[in-house]
Amino acid sequence: MKIKVLGSHGSVNPGYHTSSYLVNDQLCIDAGSLCSSLSNEEQMNLKHVFITHPHLDHIKDLAFITENTFSPARETLTVYSIPSVLKDIKEHLFNDIIWPDFTKINVDKSGRKILAYQEVDSEVEVAGLKVKPVDVNHPGNATGYTVSDGESTVLFTGDTGPTDQIWSDANKISNLKAVFTEITFPDRMKWLAEVSGHMTPSLLMDDLKKLDEVNTPVYISHFKPLFLEELIDEFYNLSPKRMKLLHHLDEISL
Ligand SMILES: [Zn+2]
Ligand SMILES: [Zn+2]
Repeated sequence: MKIKVLGSHGSVNPGYHTSSYLVNDQLCIDAGSLCSSLSNEEQMNLKHVFITHPHLDHIKDLAFITENTFSPARETLTVYSIPSVLKDIKEHLFNDIIWPDFTKINVDKSGRKILAYQEVDSEVEVAGLKVKPVDVNHPGNATGYTVSDGESTVLFTGDTGPTDQIWSDANKISNLKAVFTEITFPDRMKWLAEVSGHMTPSLLMDDLKKLDEVNTPVYISHFKPLFLEELIDEFYNLSPKRMKLLHHLDEISL
């Protein structure tokens, strides 16, 4: 499996892009940086986006990819998530107020739409990959996903605070090759991480003790640019051997 990091931070600043991963050049997990990191041709070819939750840093480029690829040359872009998350996106983003409801707009005379929704309650197979929602700990409606190509399985937690469920699910996966998760705030802001469903370096170190397999690599994203230097210092002081910090446009083969 090949994973390209389109965005790996918790906010936008020059050089910093929000959460988005491209898997096997076929589907994306989250839509924070589809347009700032994919070429126009790549945007035209993208057909599948799985959303973890409706916070703006994870969905904002759904708005702009519909504009950038509004052409008869593209196939419908399908947005997948658990029903509650899709409901939020319909009601609060593509609601004909914040942005047009692109599911109602034909891209050509054939009646084809630029945007469609697909609810995901359990495992689905898309572009040769099996994608399954997993419970996480984040305010509002949110999910993580496991993505499997049959040989390897990768877990994307999206945003989450400390949780038992996600690690107990991970412990049941025999071919888990990597975890993509988050650290958002420095340890001095542990109180904020706990109320907002995020990790600090120490919170994640503690939570990872629940993962049985001690050698599975854990890739870290979602540092807030405001606390970047502090977070990098704390992260490397902990010397977390299994954890690797993600950078924009990193490519990981598993
Ligand atoms: Zn986020
Ligand atoms: Zn969030």
